[in-house]
Amino acid sequence: MKPVSEHNCHIDPTDIEICLGHDEPLYEQNGTMMPPVYQTSLFAKKTFAELVNAFPAEHQNYIYSRGQNPTVDALEKKLAALEHGEACKCSASGMAAVSSLFYGLLKRGDHILFVNNIYGPTLQLANHLRRFGIEHNVCLSRDTESIERDIRPETRLIYFESPATMTFRMLDIRQLVELAKSRNILTAIDNTWATPLFMKPLAMGVDISLHSLTKYVGGHSDVVAGALITNAELHREIFANGYMLNGGAMAPWNGWLLIRGLRTLPNRMLQHHRDGLQIARFLSDHPAVARVNHPAFVTEDCDLLPQLSGFSSLFSIELKTEKFADICSFIDNLRLFRTGVSWGGVESLVISPSNGSNADVLRQKGISPGLVRFSVGLEGVEALIADLDQALSKISV
Ligand SMILES: *Cc1c(COP(=O)(O)O)cnc(C)c1O
Repeated sequence: MKPVSEHNCHIDPTDIEICLGHDEPLYEQNGTMMPPVYQTSLFAKKTFAELVNAFPAEHQNYIYSRGQNPTVDALEKKLAALEHGEACKCSASGMAAVSSLFYGLLKRGDHILFVNNIYGPTLQLANHLRRFGIEHNVCLSRDTESIERDIRPETRLIYFESPATMTFRMLDIRQLVELAKSRNILTAIDNTWATPLFMKPLAMGVDISLHSLTKYVGGHSDVVAGALITNAELHREIFANGYMLNGGAMAPWNGWLLIRGLRTLPNRMLQHHRDGLQIARFLSDHPAVARVNHPAFVTEDCDLLPQLSGFSSLFSIELKTEKFADICSFIDNLRLFRTGVSWGGVESLVISPSNGSNADVLRQKGISPGLVRFSVGLEGVEALIADLDQALSKISV
């Protein structure tokens, strides 16, 4: 099968400048190319009055590194610019960003509507919020009528993924935003898959763009981190009521590693885009594979592809066999694809949501028990295809 769209990859030249550091001030008179790691917990002021005056706008002043830190700030300014937002807050993990968002904006009696398949721990956190009187439900249908039917008078936030966890199905974001705005409901997208380079949700009217920077932005499987990009008003609210109180601050050293990750992000994403497509194409032609869940290979979603300016390399296939033993041996026979969680690093990874006894739970979420997810790394397509070929040939069709 050919992908429904060859869909050229495009990265904005301004984004490349931001990633490479052309937006940065000269940090020292000697012209150092990287921002310093401000490894400090607090910032002393010349006078007590200066400190007192800084407190009301702690989100804009350096007082204490649980709030603001100059190294982290340098990263935040870049991410805000890349996503066309007014402000960004970085956190110790993607989940710290999710919890800052929920704690920062929601109160007892509010309802969250999740749309599309959602990262598991995000839904687990939403389950915990029920103890505090915050309800939610998940709408797996992607059409506007079904989504509209699931909105309640108490719905305060519509939180979605596009492409979604495991299934990689896309949503019509503009239509969803229009619906939410007509009901005065905030919208948040987990934009980790597309990275700040391949999708600009705020430019489509989404209120909050969330990232696990652990994945492509870090890019080297060496840092856990998250980010929220918003307008200035939501930033202030989330900072004061969520971020500062849940304590999930990003460490300055991690901020520095992520600025380094951004330096090569455009180049890495170009290769992830190209190699991911080529490997998806190989798999879609293979007799042992029933289906490829990569946005470019899902015919029903082809009208939605212009929302993306490129593809990352995380996608899944559905093997014709749904037997757990077959999935185990396929994964174990792969040599270059390491077996593990997470994604977006230089190394290729493989995992399945199947554990041998959860087929019914998976089917309820629209996930085939024969689903196998790949994160295509930078090893090069020839070697990766040869590896997949030998492992697939060992599955009897
Ligand atoms: C990994 C991930 C998260 C959570 O991020 P952490 O950095 O692991 O806390 C959230 N959403 C998606 C889609 C993810 O893959």
